[in-house]
Amino acid sequence: MTPLTEVSPVPSRFPPSLLAASREGLAEVSAALAEAVDTASHARRPAGPIPAGTPSDVLAAAAEALGPAQLPAEGLGTKAALQLLTTVLVEHGIDLSHPRAAAHLQPPSLAVAVAADALANAGNASLDTYDSSASALAVERWLIAVLIRLAGLGERADGVLTPGGSLSNLLGLLLARDAAALRRGVNAREAGVAALPGPVVFCSELAHFSVHRACAALGLGEAAVRPLPVDEHRRLRPAALSAALAALGPDRTPLAVIATAGTTDFGSVDPLPEIAEIAAGHGIWLHVDAAYGFGALFSPRLAGRLAGLELADSVTLDLHKLGWQPAATSVLLVSDTTAFAALDRQVAYLNPTDDAEAGYDGLLGRSLQTTRRADAVKAAATLLAHGRAGLGRMVDACHDLARHAERRILAEPELELVSPAELTTVVFRYRGTGRPDSADDLNGALRRRLLESGSALIGRTDARTAGPGSPTRVCLKFTLLNPTATTEDIDGLVDTVLETGRTCARLTEESAA
Ligand SMILES: *Cc1c(COP(=O)(O)O)cnc(C)c1O
Repeated sequence: MTPLTEVSPVPSRFPPSLLAASREGLAEVSAALAEAVDTASHARRPAGPIPAGTPSDVLAAAAEALGPAQLPAEGLGTKAALQLLTTVLVEHGIDLSHPRAAAHLQPPSLAVAVAADALANAGNASLDTYDSSASALAVERWLIAVLIRLAGLGERADGVLTPGGSLSNLLGLLLARDAAALRRGVNAREAGVAALPGPVVFCSELAHFSVHRACAALGLGEAAVRPLPVDEHRRLRPAALSAALAALGPDRTPLAVIATAGTTDFGSVDPLPEIAEIAAGHGIWLHVDAAYGFGALFSPRLAGRLAGLELADSVTLDLHKLGWQPAATSVLLVSDTTAFAALDRQVAYLNPTDDAEAGYDGLLGRSLQTTRRADAVKAAATLLAHGRAGLGRMVDACHDLARHAERRILAEPELELVSPAELTTVVFRYRGTGRPDSADDLNGALRRRLLESGSALIGRTDARTAGPGSPTRVCLKFTLLNPTATTEDIDGLVDTVLETGRTCARLTEESAA
């Protein structure tokens, strides 16, 4: 047997740049990426925010650019692989920094956030335990503390990052469900939903569909959701909530009231102080879905619209909407950290009791996830780099663009304003000359034509155009989240919609003739 001392060291078969966290790795990858982006942006980038063509054309072109779906026997190397993917994404993908990209609550990412996210990914910390994370835990706690202050929640507040507003809503409802069960002396985590006969969750008819999904996922069933009517400003009517609560039979368990601060389509904010008072009066959990609206708090002009947010038991907020973060950067805040007891878990290989008591603990007990990305890093970098005022100016710029769009729409006889610029969206409709239901088809066709031409990315939705109770119609929507766009860009966007509307109306008439 060879004595140990005679074994000579074996050099690594890999270059130091193989691993991102090495200095060589980060430098090489950043240089390769910069070069690839530089080449690609000078290449055949589409003129509009989305490539021209039908979805099958565009996706076939992207697949062709990628090449055969085959694992190469030998790799192309970092540079060539990044070059290839950059070409595919830039030439055949969407461009959210384009001034005519206005479809979804999907902002162009801030440069500082993307750089910080690369740094976080290079480190690959995971927030579940201390020994998989160390400093990244401090970054998440810093971010949560900053957001708690911004929301106005008290000393006992806490929070956690999640992979999206839909999952923040799920987590908020889970905590509300378990709190309601606990009040009945039942542990819902063990007993399941049987502990809660006839569960009811109140929200407005404009609440996000993820509320329904969350109820299904939590075993409450979608039938637990009780959508309530909104007023002419698309806000939940407190009187409707009071009446619904008063009419609740003894066989029912009210679990939560969900108020929306910034409805996805309209940006309308439910009257939080009134709703909070009603919820408190009945001892029901108040969850505020501020996935979209939370960013208004950065703006001195708009922050007042969220008055009452501090009364919530839990809050959903998405910094990947009005916060310009790459997805996903969502947060669930709670007013009282003990709410997280429902998620507490002791796992032998992660946080055994003696380790945890000695301080070797992470955030496993605040999340449904185990491995969890350090998404707080990009958001912390953004808040530090731009500050409240910097983010506020971006919010205001988008609000200004939305107000400009609103004025332009009001001035165009061919367009009908459906909902004004509450935050950064405007909903409207191309009137057409036929019956209202034929205008539904026209508006749908108009948007598809814009997408196929690649000239503009705009949204669509169904909305009541003649007040509460009126039928819903197919509408168009601008979601304005690019703070660098100008009022001329908005004028160009409206002009494009008008031209395309005329073309579609003419084609409809011709095909009818
Ligand atoms: C966007 C949105 C959600 C869902 O958030 P995701 O991050 O897309 O999962 C929930 N509620 C409201 C009001 C939203 O606007």
